[in-house]
Amino acid sequence: MNIDPNSLNDSQYSLNATSIILILIFLVLPALSGCGLFIPEPYGAISPGIGLSQIDGKTLFIPKNAPSILNGFNSSKNKQKYGQPASGHNGIDIIAKIGTPVIAPANGKVTSSFLGPAYGNTLTIFHGKGPDGFYILTQYHHMNKRLVQTGDIVVRGQQIGELGRTGVLAGGILHLHFETLGTKKPEKGGYTPLNPHRFWYGGPGNITCFDSKKKWDDTSFKATYPVVCK
Ligand SMILES: [Zn+2]
Repeated sequence: MNIDPNSLNDSQYSLNATSIILILIFLVLPALSGCGLFIPEPYGAISPGIGLSQIDGKTLFIPKNAPSILNGFNSSKNKQKYGQPASGHNGIDIIAKIGTPVIAPANGKVTSSFLGPAYGNTLTIFHGKGPDGFYILTQYHHMNKRLVQTGDIVVRGQQIGELGRTGVLAGGILHLHFETLGTKKPEKGGYTPLNPHRFWYGGPGNITCFDSKKKWDDTSFKATYPVVCK
């Protein structure tokens, strides 16, 4: 039996296109995002999810001009003071366009800068002493480019890389995985992931965008957002 391609009507085509779009929305995109979350608005949004948008029972504040957060620090222990995750997601995932500047959240020294298969372009910065006696490292994964090298001194607001999706664990999603780690005995190592929302310049849960015109107090680690705000 011959099928005349011209006999396929518009509704058959549109049904197929609709099916593909539905499959993308309901199956493929949630799978790629890791936690089955939908990608939120590009700015000023935090994806809903258990423990992801609150700290100590308070709703997180994100400025309207800050690139949105897709995945949070995922821990059933999020209510604990510093919320070390037993398993799950050790940082926050900030979504933005490829090439968006990734900026140092505070003064520090770069302790590693490399391209790895899982996490892609990765940087680690040591920031010295933070609140409550913790010595702090910050880590950046999946960047499109690294713009600093091991040993470099960086200052708050300095561009250190570009947002991207390198490394297989990026899952093809453009985002910056930003992590804060702390130890009370840096000479012994033992850094463990801490909830990044603890350390914002404006206080716990109060995401704070960098502003080059503002004078910042850099006596102790207090983070500004690691991605440039619009
Ligand atoms: Zn992540």
